[in-house]
Amino acid sequence: MAIYTLPELPYDYAALEPVINPQIIELHHDKHHAAYVKGANDTLEQLEEARDKDQWGAINGLEKNLAFHLSGHILHSIYWNNMDSPKDGGGGEPLAADGVGELADAITESFGSFAKFKAQLTKASATTQGSGWGVLAYEPVSGRLVVEQVYDHQGNVGVGSVPVLVFDAWEHAFYLQYKNQKVDFIEAMWQVVNWQDVSRRYQAAKASVPLISF
Ligand code: MN
Repeated sequence: MAIYTLPELPYDYAALEPVINPQIIELHHDKHHAAYVKGANDTLEQLEEARDKDQWGAINGLEKNLAFHLSGHILHSIYWNNMDSPKDGGGGEPLAADGVGELADAITESFGSFAKFKAQLTKASATTQGSGWGVLAYEPVSGRLVVEQVYDHQGNVGVGSVPVLVFDAWEHAFYLQYKNQKVDFIEAMWQVVNWQDVSRRYQAAKASVPLISF
């Protein structure tokens, strides 16, 4: 029985043009994201079989596959909702006038300014070696925001961090349109960021993850 299911896109394939063309969105969602959903479900079945048979010879590979596919599913589910057409409010900066002032303040407190945050997330995303992500995350020990450079879907991640804005820097996210110009793609991504969604995720992370103290 499948535990995870592929979520529907919150817009049509062409909604993010010209930043991302419809062919990329269709392949990325219907093929790549779908493969991570299937991979997570298949791995859970294999783990159940291992438990039932008490056979643990493949445990290391299975746990790695679970981390990879589950993280891929989660990051892509956030990614689709983190974006919106500029016609529908995507892009720009988070502003108090748009009801996302707490997020804007948290960015300024954590990074010095929006411009410095934008530079760090752009650099972290555009310089991933191989496949990875640039991620803005809520970090519960400090109660601040951090930028993480994630490898594959699950490496180089701060334990406890909650992703609130994710930039997919895998080649499948841009190559059909931007060829080898990853930095151009990442810079264009800022035109479709859905700050309302990022703000909702930030508020939810702050509310659900208690400040960790020692
Ligand atoms: Mn992807």
